[in-house]
Amino acid sequence: MKTVDPLLTLELYPWAMAGGEASLSTPLSKLSRVAQATLPPAHDHMPVCQWQLHSQLKHPDTLKQLWVHLKASLLVEQICQRCLLPMPVSLEVDRHFRFVADEATALAEDDDCDEDLLSPAPELTLLALLEDELLLAMPLIARHGVCDEPLPVQPEQDAPHPFAALAGLKLGKQ
Ligand SMILES: [Zn+2]
Repeated sequence: MKTVDPLLTLELYPWAMAGGEASLSTPLSKLSRVAQATLPPAHDHMPVCQWQLHSQLKHPDTLKQLWVHLKASLLVEQICQRCLLPMPVSLEVDRHFRFVADEATALAEDDDCDEDLLSPAPELTLLALLEDELLLAMPLIARHGVCDEPLPVQPEQDAPHPFAALAGLKLGKQ
């Protein structure tokens, strides 16, 4: 299996300008911002994100519009905010982006078009775009359609934070 890390860290704009095309599988462990927002996967069952990214230069003779199309799917687990049990969440991305000259142009034109606008930036890597879009695909509030065990919501503030005990141990040693 080919390693995908070098590609993920490439800056998106020059990659797309060069006619970049990718169809890849990336484990959740390599998508750290997404992993932080989801439940840690079972040891032997690392979710894998299947994704494709294609660039296209439209109207090459006139407008020279640089577009990218991202499709991605990833199955993760989040905590249901009603019953507090894990639930599977399917993240699906299918979005078109168009590069514009800069951030100001993006803000000015954003309301007038269906596609999403991007401006070239060194920090905008393939990985950054993929992670941004997966995070945007998450439900605002994860909830089962119908919970198996609807529980009354109990404030958990009374329970000591798991690290509080650790902190106590540490202090005791000093
Ligand atoms: Zn639930």
